[in-house]
Amino acid sequence: MAPEAQGANTGNNSSSRILVIGAGAAGLVATLELVREGLDVVVYEQLKETGGVWIYTAETESDPLGVDPQRNRVHSSMYQNLRTNLPREIMGYLDFPFMAKQGRDERRFPGHEEVNLYLKDFAEHYNLLSLIEFDVEVEYVGVKGGVAAASTTENRNLKWIVRSRKVGQVDQVREEIFDGVVICNGHYAEPKVVPIPGIEGWPGLHMHSHNYRVPDPFQDKVVVIVGNANSGGDISNEVASVAKQVHICARNWPADKLSVSEGGPRKNVWHHPLVERAYENGTVKFQDGKSAIADAIIQCTGYLYAFPFLDAQELISVEDGRVSPLYKHVFIPSLAPSLSFVGLPSKVVPFPLFQAQVKWIAKVLTGKVLLPSVSVMTAEVEKLYQDLEAKGVPRYRTLTIGLDAFEYVDWLLEQCGETPAESWRKEIYLMTSVNRRVNPDYRDSWEDQELLEIANASLHELSE
Ligand code: FAD
Repeated sequence: MAPEAQGANTGNNSSSRILVIGAGAAGLVATLELVREGLDVVVYEQLKETGGVWIYTAETESDPLGVDPQRNRVHSSMYQNLRTNLPREIMGYLDFPFMAKQGRDERRFPGHEEVNLYLKDFAEHYNLLSLIEFDVEVEYVGVKGGVAAASTTENRNLKWIVRSRKVGQVDQVREEIFDGVVICNGHYAEPKVVPIPGIEGWPGLHMHSHNYRVPDPFQDKVVVIVGNANSGGDISNEVASVAKQVHICARNWPADKLSVSEGGPRKNVWHHPLVERAYENGTVKFQDGKSAIADAIIQCTGYLYAFPFLDAQELISVEDGRVSPLYKHVFIPSLAPSLSFVGLPSKVVPFPLFQAQVKWIAKVLTGKVLLPSVSVMTAEVEKLYQDLEAKGVPRYRTLTIGLDAFEYVDWLLEQCGETPAESWRKEIYLMTSVNRRVNPDYRDSWEDQELLEIANASLHELSE
């Protein structure tokens, strides 16, 4: 059931003009759901095509670490051999199954190109392309009348000033007014880097996984990989196949896995805690007292949330991995519902979650579903932060919602009067997570055949 109307957050009507920023997986499905609700939508995308992170390019940034603000920027973080870490049947949107197509990459965990093609199929199927302006970068989004208007405009009819620019045309800034802005700018383009004492004098290649494409440059080298999550796992595998030695540093190795070589086919891979210090003679010393003379350090340490165009510093803080205050990870209470964020939660199944979020946003924008009052939303957000603190969850994990994402998606769908997502989605997710932990070959051998058949039957029905 939708929450009780409290009068403070009435949405706009269907003549509202809404801007979607970004035409990646989040922006595409946002466009569809907003259009489905009869809203007038335009999408600004800085690249030349749809797909966002799934558009592979061999190009990398001028600063391999990805921290110099003046660097040439490359949006995508895909590496050439990347295959999905989720199986296609749970990865696709809720009502547009990611089915294997003859003549394309039919694998259950396909390569990045297949995901890009799936997103292009989606955009074409729903005629979304005519709503997207490519090569347009949004530079500024701010409340008309200033953020002070947000605290006084009790009926929430805020307007948004948006400044955008055709990429490459520095002097041609367009300024427009929108009734709502849906931010779908992604959060895998701004590298997060852990500090390494002594790194300034260390002579090797220091880079972030954002700029990793192929293992070839690491042939016969000694490579330190910092981080052992999805990218760290994949990249260490690839690099280990050509490098002399790979040293993977992570906070979470079990004690019996520390300071030892993996053995088996990965005899050249060593596990350590974090790096203690790097030295001018090329030595990298780890916190377990071991060291290596290394040629390269690849930080696979994740990404920062960034909204460089958003002028609302007084009302939103992006600090230590927490974007706050965000009601249900989507709305800043005092700016709701006309400003929303799609796709911020991490360690989730992204596409279905994006779709559930934007279904809700679209219904709220048309006033079909009402939000609680600003004070109720604010109190709920504060309670969430207090609960996380009481449980000892670090701030940077606020948006790492993991398994709670399934309940979250069902809550969002329920707000929209829709039935919960099918139960096989969560079961397959769990089976995949277990298989990934124990089986390095999880993308090509699995034991959830029965579930897979149930899923495929359900998806076939949907696609007919
Ligand atoms: P993006 O795809 O980043 O799209 C954002 C878009 O906004 C981009 O096109 C960008 O150009 C545009 N944009 C940004 N700023 C502006 C601006 N100011 N003006 C105009 N346009 C702008 N997910 C899975 O489901 N399965 C996987 O196996 C998987 N593997 C992954 C592997 C890697 C290496 C990475 C980085 C991510 C992976 N993901 C995976 C997560 C993936 O990010 C999401 O699936 C999803 O594609 C993110 O979509 P998005 O639309 O939020 O962001």
